[in-house]
Amino acid sequence: LEKVPSDIEIAMGQTPKPITQLAQEIGLSPDELESYGKYKAKVELSVLDRLAHRTDGKYIVVAGITPTPLGEGKSTTTIGLAQALGAELGRPAFACVRQPSQGPTFGIKGGAAGGGYSQVIPMDEFNLHLTGDIHAVTAANNLLAAALDARMFHEATQSDKALYSRLVPTKKGKREFAPLMFKRLQKLGIDKTNPNELTPEEITKFARLDIDPETITWNRVLDTNDRFLRKVTIGRNPTEQGHERETGFDIAVASECMAVLALATSLADMKHRLGAMVVATSKQGEPVTADDIGVTGALTVLMKDAIKPNLMQTLQGTPVFVHAGPFANIAHGNSSILADRVALKLAGTEEDDSSDRVGYVLTEGGFGADMGMEKFCNIKCRVSGLKPDATIIVATTRALKMHGGGPDVTPGKPLHETYTKEDLVTLKEGCKNLVQHIKNSRKFGIKVIVAINQFASDSAAELALVRDESLAGGADAAVVSNHWAEGGKGARALAEAVITTCEGPSNFDFLYDLELPIEEKITIISKEIYGADGIELSDLARQQVETYTRQGYAGLPICMAKTQYSFSHDPKLKGVPSGFTIPIRSVRLSAGAGFLYPILGDMQTMPGLGTRPGFWEVGVDEAGRVVGLF
Ligand code: ADP
Repeated sequence: LEKVPSDIEIAMGQTPKPITQLAQEIGLSPDELESYGKYKAKVELSVLDRLAHRTDGKYIVVAGITPTPLGEGKSTTTIGLAQALGAELGRPAFACVRQPSQGPTFGIKGGAAGGGYSQVIPMDEFNLHLTGDIHAVTAANNLLAAALDARMFHEATQSDKALYSRLVPTKKGKREFAPLMFKRLQKLGIDKTNPNELTPEEITKFARLDIDPETITWNRVLDTNDRFLRKVTIGRNPTEQGHERETGFDIAVASECMAVLALATSLADMKHRLGAMVVATSKQGEPVTADDIGVTGALTVLMKDAIKPNLMQTLQGTPVFVHAGPFANIAHGNSSILADRVALKLAGTEEDDSSDRVGYVLTEGGFGADMGMEKFCNIKCRVSGLKPDATIIVATTRALKMHGGGPDVTPGKPLHETYTKEDLVTLKEGCKNLVQHIKNSRKFGIKVIVAINQFASDSAAELALVRDESLAGGADAAVVSNHWAEGGKGARALAEAVITTCEGPSNFDFLYDLELPIEEKITIISKEIYGADGIELSDLARQQVETYTRQGYAGLPICMAKTQYSFSHDPKLKGVPSGFTIPIRSVRLSAGAGFLYPILGDMQTMPGLGTRPGFWEVGVDEAGRVVGLF
């Protein structure tokens, strides 16, 4: 293989086409496009109404084996394959990827635009602020956090009457409820519309959310790997009169507001979900929501543009939708339902279309198939009603060798020679991890294509071994793909396998029924997907499960927060671990996004920076171009 330049050199070497031209090519009308500069645009959701009559294109979820910290090329494969289907084979083809978080971009992993000759461009814009969606999500989350603490402070420092007269002020000589207050009155069973008619007891009930501070689950968020914010004490200025409390920050992309963005099916649905988000429990045991705090409309306004998918392009000028956040370990980590739906319609066929020009939508589920894909199937598809036609499991000899007993792969350190020389014995052992992911995918009734992401140092015998093990392990197809070095041309064989495999109906089904008790649903995922013997709930987790069940939230699906580096909760257990029990430290409720969120082992919801983060490399050159992103 010839030397491939760095990701950013390749990306900067290609001039993207104007986004208006791409939009026209894929069948968007000018009024459905909202340009953000020359090469990015938001797409209006009205396109879904215009194309509602179309039959959807084929829907493929791209997942992976259990990765190393370097990433195994899932994004690269998604983009390379979209280039192959679109630019090489001339099919309508859309990649739906997540917007990268600045945490990993400046931390260990670098950007997420793909790599080599399979990238989204302009990759610096893609990796940094894009169109501001993450900022909007951060703003919404933190407005709710600020509103919650301010409300508790005012309740603690004012009489019922004073509180009520400030909450329901007199305007132009008349006391008036704000629109959302009617929802609260209804929730409290107070059938009155005139603020002056409330009895003193009703005033107390209405004005006091009476939040139990011990039950607050709403954290502040930031899109920076800032480990020192994991636990903080707030309210320390004298103006807050001693109302201090301990809280923490999560990474913004793993917040509930981001999950709401990803799972919303319309603007109205997003508003409903934002309003239903639960921040705490009252002293009377009732869930306290964003609606109760009165902030739903404002949150919706902050996120009203973020809900529109962002259109960008690959190095070969094929369309890419970039929407919602990554982190399939501590979040669900899938791109948005709306981006997928728009892409499926644009890739879809008209009723009278007799050609076989059906298009393909590749949507990425983060990390291994035990993480992003499991959540794609059990959470995202349940909300969207969409059924995937196939899954692609991306594998590299590097990660497989690590699972077969190879030494740890550490970012920034040279690779051990096991990874750069032929080693069929270690590789064969490691293929067990891949086979387990294939078997797991089969449990959802999905067809499986293994994409072997070729590295320059892979030998022909190694690539053949992974292919043979994949087919013996139950894959429908297994194809070596060289898109990193060759772009779409290198993924032609993979694209052809996708087209063949997607013919025929999908037998997709969920892994568990929603009606099962919370603990049982967690157990099913742990046993069936992770291979655990069972689970062990901490006292806190047990108490939370009881509260959520009593409050009527037991029927939600489960979004596990687990390490991405092992099938188990312990990142050190490689390959296919067995004989372990999963500790459930706590369970959070994401009532608006619509899932329960168990935290496994010592999983952190705010990552940290290492000694030598990626930011050391990043800067601008004399011409003002971004350098050092990878
Ligand atoms: P993932 O999506 O699985 O986390 P990425 O697609 O982001 O992984 O790839 C991680 C890094 O590995 C990127 O910097 C990319 O350029 C590089 N990479 C991916 N595939 C290859 C390959 N076949 N050869 C060399 N480097 C690769």
